[in-house]
Amino acid sequence: MAEYKLAARTSYDSTVVDVKGHKLGGGHFAVIAGPCSVETEEQMLSIARDVKAAGAAFLRGGAFKPRTSAYAFSGLGLDGLELLKIASVKSGLPIVTEIMSEEYLDDFERDVDVIQIGARNMQNFSLLRTIGRLKKPVLLKRGLSSTIEELLNAVEYILVGGSTDVILCERGIRTYETATRNTLDLSAVPVLKERTHLPVIVDPSHGTGYWELVEPMALAAAAAGADGLIIEVHNHPEAALCDGRQSVTPQVFARLMGKIRRVRAAIA
Ligand code: PEP
Ligand code: MN
Repeated sequence: MAEYKLAARTSYDSTVVDVKGHKLGGGHFAVIAGPCSVETEEQMLSIARDVKAAGAAFLRGGAFKPRTSAYAFSGLGLDGLELLKIASVKSGLPIVTEIMSEEYLDDFERDVDVIQIGARNMQNFSLLRTIGRLKKPVLLKRGLSSTIEELLNAVEYILVGGSTDVILCERGIRTYETATRNTLDLSAVPVLKERTHLPVIVDPSHGTGYWELVEPMALAAAAAGADGLIIEVHNHPEAALCDGRQSVTPQVFARLMGKIRRVRAAIA
């Protein structure tokens, strides 16, 4: 028996995550889009409107940001959650946002549609267990230097709490390569799809670090069989408080979405 018996694929049936009618997995391809960080109401409303028009199914945006430097912008915190809620109500898009600790658990439980656990917390086992007990949809990102087996063992901690709607995300791993921010491991997609029934999405933004590389890797992820994508979109990337270099504009995002539809049709 696999170490991760709840996550393991035992049949052809795949988990479909359904958030307010927005489905991801089991043949339902969905795109999560939005800025790295929530900054202002105007920013969130404008991006939410544009990504929805382009076909995104979920709105992302960090309110609590894990930053390498202790002096970098670390998010608006609870004020950021409020702005996400406003943008979600206006756009009709469910919210995906990262939790960093148990500190604001009640707020996340009440206000967030899909709770993201970031790469840096992939093996924060106490956080994984706590989030699993909420039985809410979760997005678990692969750790910076974690193997696929470690990711599958980590997601088991969420599933044992009773959660069923869990999405896995390949977001690039650390290698000796420096031309990109991380090395996007697209082979993780078919490997994960073979080993687990959970949906698998790809993050070409953190996976590459450069907006010009987002489109080719997003298309490659769709061709490799991913169930969806998470893409950073900013209305003014040059002024973004976090990850502007890897953020596409709404115009680039809309074009990319059209190409994704064509790739999906080609491999169907
Ligand atoms: C993010 O999605 O904004 C993020 C911080 O991603 P990761 O945890 O993959 O670095
Ligand atoms: Mn980011």
